[in-house]
Amino acid sequence: MPLPYNRRTCYCGEVGLGHVGQTILLCGWVQVRRDHGGLIFVDLRDRTGIVQLKFNPETDPQSHAAAGRLRSEYCICVRGEVARRPEGLVNPNLATGAVEVNVRELDILSASETPVFALEDEIDTNEETRLEYRFLDLRRRPMQRALILRHRIAKTIRDYFDEHGFIEVETPFLTKSTPEGARDYLVPSRVSPGTFYALPQSPQLFKQLLMMSGFDRYVQIVRCFRDEDLRADRQPEFTQLDMEMSFVQPEDVQHVIEGCLARVMKTALGVDVPTPFPRMTYEQALREYGIDRPDTRYDLRIKEVSAVARRVEFPVFVEALARGGVVRAICVPGGGGMTRKETDTLAEDMKGIGAGGLPLVKVAEEGGRPVFQTGIAKFFTPETTAELLAAVGGSPGDAVFFAAGPEADVCKHLAWLRETVAKRRNLIPAGKWNFLWVVEFPMFEFHAEDQRWYAVHHPFTAPRDEDVDIFDREPGRARAKAYDVVLNGIEIGGGSVRIHRADVQQRVFRMLDITPEEQQLKFGFLLKALSYGPPPHGGIALGLDRIVMLLAGMPSIRDVLAFPKTARATCLLTGAPSPVAPAQLEELYLRTTAPKK
Ligand code: ASP
Repeated sequence: MPLPYNRRTCYCGEVGLGHVGQTILLCGWVQVRRDHGGLIFVDLRDRTGIVQLKFNPETDPQSHAAAGRLRSEYCICVRGEVARRPEGLVNPNLATGAVEVNVRELDILSASETPVFALEDEIDTNEETRLEYRFLDLRRRPMQRALILRHRIAKTIRDYFDEHGFIEVETPFLTKSTPEGARDYLVPSRVSPGTFYALPQSPQLFKQLLMMSGFDRYVQIVRCFRDEDLRADRQPEFTQLDMEMSFVQPEDVQHVIEGCLARVMKTALGVDVPTPFPRMTYEQALREYGIDRPDTRYDLRIKEVSAVARRVEFPVFVEALARGGVVRAICVPGGGGMTRKETDTLAEDMKGIGAGGLPLVKVAEEGGRPVFQTGIAKFFTPETTAELLAAVGGSPGDAVFFAAGPEADVCKHLAWLRETVAKRRNLIPAGKWNFLWVVEFPMFEFHAEDQRWYAVHHPFTAPRDEDVDIFDREPGRARAKAYDVVLNGIEIGGGSVRIHRADVQQRVFRMLDITPEEQQLKFGFLLKALSYGPPPHGGIALGLDRIVMLLAGMPSIRDVLAFPKTARATCLLTGAPSPVAPAQLEELYLRTTAPKK
């Protein structure tokens, strides 16, 4: 009689002292088999953990003989009796380490090829192989933990929003393209030859329409698609926590999200994060951190030193200031101890992001006064030294690094320097979770390449009340009711209060060079809806993959997706994307011009 594997009594990781003396039925996979002079031990694994099985040739010759055939990753079912492990053989590193199962009956449900890599916690197998054999890779504990954590987080989010009166509404996947800056994935229509759907880059306009329909509070954990050239850690399809609320100002949306993230942090990690999160304007973020997603776990703030640099005869400063640029600096406490090699490597690496060089001085002490040494020290007088030190807050033992040039470049270079120095000098405290709102983003940014304005968030974002009348006259000055939420220097979400007046929406479209014809073609439905009593509304979308990755402590987004794609947007497991039969193309009225391989 085969064992009734559908009558499993418990999971492997649950077996404990409470089971001693009981007969249990377990199913799982063979992690390892160890033969010990007659006795055979097997670590049996399922998604909850591992328990030790013992096969004794004296008491159970039949199952012992069968156990001799077991290999790694065989799928088996066993029935046996739980016993306390003998004194001295208890394994404190294993949750089930106080017990073992004396197996009376064993069924091999299926055999396994030798796995192409060891299914252990730490492996150095290359990622291509792991992705090709993803079904095996996902048997490993860290991967199982990550996906289970992902489930927990999603469940916590759904419960939270349900408790706060939000309705989950599904929005279409086959839709019209909404421009969010990236390329659309297109799906050809068979029944309307020559036309295409787009997979949504976000449900933006649908959630706005739901507000206009009176749903008041919408949420969705939703897949979105962007056909971008995949930089380091992006996926062509990714998951957003998307929400929208009616009759709100930015702080109302922020309040709901703070509560949600605090709940997630508590459930997932047991960590209490204080709310409300700190707020910083975009302007301050750029000025002090050089970036719109500052990592506030460490200081190293950027200081404006143009005023004193004006009196320092260092040619790089002179030239930058003459061209209308700025000089800013970062003081690295203890940086005086950095070796020549360290600072040279920094300067060299910084060239990789377009910096010309990395001027610096080290602060020493002479006759009881701070003085500059090395680098560009010779350009400073005692007065400019004192003034600079006052501006950057430096003291003997520190190093001061400078960047000079157009403001945008200086921000970029010093933001890089800040992060790199913090990492290389271990200045980032462990176990800190710094959430931050960056608020009041600019409405528009000017792109010199094509000499036109672009929306910083998206074209549906409302200007601040005080900017409603002026944004088309002074686009560079207008600020939006837009906000990003940042965790430890990583942007985890962004949103805004939306435009709910058709005339304002049309003015924004005009600013973005969208002609009235295009407006009708692309957004006719939105403009129509805006003329039927739209409520003021706003919302946000958070990147769920990124949040799970950070909370799971995984190095990549791919590690928190069951079946991710590579940086070239391919699935190594299934081979997607792949050519299709000519007949399929014909049906869709398509012909490919791709060069033959
Ligand atoms: N739809 C926006 C995005 O996907 C978020 C929002 O404005 O709510 O980035």
